[in-house]
Amino acid sequence: MTSQMLTNYWDTEIGWLKKVGPKRAELLQSEIGIRTFGDLLNYFPSKYIDRSRILKIKEVTQEDSYITLKGKIFQLSMAGAKGPGRRLTAIFRDETGAMELVWFQGIKYVEEQIKEGEEVIIHGRPSWFQSRLQMAHPEIETLQGNVLQTSGILPFYSSTEKMKRAGLDSRGIKNLMAQIQEHIIGGLPENLKHSILLDRKFPGRDVAFYQIHFPESIAQATNARNRLKFEELFYFQFMLASQKLLKKPTYKSAPFQKIGPLFNLFYADHLPFTLTNAQKRVLKEIRADLARPVQMNRLIQGDVGSGKTMVAFLSMLIALDNGFQAALMAPTEILADQHFRTISKFALDLNIQVGILTGKTTQKRRKEIYSSLMDGTLQILIGTHALIEDPVQFHNLGLTIIDEQHKFGVMQRARLWSKGRLFPHNMVMTATPIPRTLALTLYGDLDVSVIDELPPGRKPIKTRVAGNQRRLEVYHFLSDQLRQGRQIYFVYPLIAESEKSDLKAAEEAFVSLAESFPAHRVGLVHGKMKPDDKERMMLDFKDGKIHILVSTTVIEVGVDVPNATVMVIENAERFGLSQLHQLRGRVGRGGSQSYCILMVSEKISRDGRERLKTMEETNDGFKISEVDLKLRGPGDFLGTRQSGLPDFKIANIAEDGALLSEARSEAEMLMADDPNLIKPENADIKAHYQKYFEANRKFAGIA
Ligand code: ADP
Ligand code: MG
Repeated sequence: MTSQMLTNYWDTEIGWLKKVGPKRAELLQSEIGIRTFGDLLNYFPSKYIDRSRILKIKEVTQEDSYITLKGKIFQLSMAGAKGPGRRLTAIFRDETGAMELVWFQGIKYVEEQIKEGEEVIIHGRPSWFQSRLQMAHPEIETLQGNVLQTSGILPFYSSTEKMKRAGLDSRGIKNLMAQIQEHIIGGLPENLKHSILLDRKFPGRDVAFYQIHFPESIAQATNARNRLKFEELFYFQFMLASQKLLKKPTYKSAPFQKIGPLFNLFYADHLPFTLTNAQKRVLKEIRADLARPVQMNRLIQGDVGSGKTMVAFLSMLIALDNGFQAALMAPTEILADQHFRTISKFALDLNIQVGILTGKTTQKRRKEIYSSLMDGTLQILIGTHALIEDPVQFHNLGLTIIDEQHKFGVMQRARLWSKGRLFPHNMVMTATPIPRTLALTLYGDLDVSVIDELPPGRKPIKTRVAGNQRRLEVYHFLSDQLRQGRQIYFVYPLIAESEKSDLKAAEEAFVSLAESFPAHRVGLVHGKMKPDDKERMMLDFKDGKIHILVSTTVIEVGVDVPNATVMVIENAERFGLSQLHQLRGRVGRGGSQSYCILMVSEKISRDGRERLKTMEETNDGFKISEVDLKLRGPGDFLGTRQSGLPDFKIANIAEDGALLSEARSEAEMLMADDPNLIKPENADIKAHYQKYFEANRKFAGIA
């Protein structure tokens, strides 16, 4: 080592490694952000190839997704005309057979690297073309001169085309890794408590880094990865916890300590059904919040039909029993109206005043509402945004509930909604579940309740995917349902401008469905209609005057038409998962068996297929949102602006939910024990946290 080496080995510039000249150093930095030995150490294998699981060509079946084979490559040759179809092909042979390999990119590099007849291991996704086995862009490991053949496990590092051309492919990176190998053990301070390691059988930090790059088994590599994921999640959660401690809002609200006559009377004599256990549990959580003199901020997640309205109503009764008013806000008039009817019915024998205020409320009625709100005689007000936009003054508003709002930002705004000295308690109900992992990660300061159970006797909706060749069959089925007096939704996706517009597609479908089902009335709603016309059409459908409702994706979320039993979604492959699930939730609201038919075109992407399969397999909104998050990643799932997550090096919040919640409780324990990390035994943790915090200044909101 030279005198240029600074105090910390890991801060050494990558150029000091053998075989890294200025050009490669520059590439490593610009392509994958590696500037120092420490950066290199933090560049983890993207996968491991288990050489003990090498197949023979003869053994490969259609079911195999990734395979590893050992053999030799022959007959490299170019095929296809110049242009995108141009490719490099080769034959790969082992003792049992042969298959074709093909490359569309990085051809020059592949040609340079492969020596015909040399023994290699290849790894990749097999495909079948006219019952012949092929593999595109396999990863290739040569056996000769491989520096890291210590175990049966080959780590594989990803690299860009540019890097590969400069010899910095997986093997090239392994070569660099080998140069820092001996400095790992003993060269990295521990940053997790010993008890955490013991409890989870995690290796120490240095051992984890060693094993992630030089594992003896897949299990060992996995455990090492989990330890490093845990570490990352732990510091992230500790940062959140400390932020919360610094600026936790302490809005004062009136404590509702009494469970009084209204609640008790309704609960004992007028409940139209027995509450599900989930409803009871959530209600208990709400009651505990309401009893405190600080503002409740609770998100109630419950799948479509899980019975959120009853929970909302019972919460309102608690407010009323304590001498306060309650307000319920819905995103559309039709939903506000629906809530008004339901809640008026619940309230029938309780002698309480319930009102509705929307854009449609007449001036005269409006005046009455304003004054009865002011003097407190109107106890429950239901409405649209008009509730907060209008010059509405409450006598003493104690609880606000927002329904079906899946714009996550709403919490912040609702929190600021104060019409008095005290803040009303606050509840948001959503049927678009945020996966637990995300809720935990992003809404640490928000309490979340989950109604994870449907009322008894619901028949799960049957979901089937059908291609166009089965359209006739589908129509026969629809006639059958119509003959039984049921109603049907037909939904068209928004499609690209360049193609036929969604409106046109829906209009055409409207005409052709009217022809196919002459005995029934077909209606059409779309986004370009006037709100009034749209609403009238929806109400006609609700009242059974229309049997088939064709629509673009504007069907209002939450509308209850129990007699509608079939949801047909055209070009279903173009919809996102949570949207499909929301649409499906329009049916299955009555006692009859309901169906969701996903019509698809010929060409479906891999993700598209996964979405459709998930829809067929489950009705569980939480499972669906987990898959959705996995397929789209947190950024897209929430919209990039909201995701605001730090760049995790190894943890993945879409997949590491279990580790995340463990890391969270450990972080909370540390926060309770030593919030400023001043205890001597936490010195290493403090040092690491300061680095971590600095690196995430932007996320921490101090950049
Ligand atoms: P969502 O959570 O989608 O808003 P709703 O509150 O509209 O669900 O409830 C859906 C339907 O289920 C309503 O008709 C409601 O009366 C009924 N319901 C709610 N809770 C129960 C229960 N515990 N047992 C039986 N039916 C229930
Ligand atoms: Mg609802």
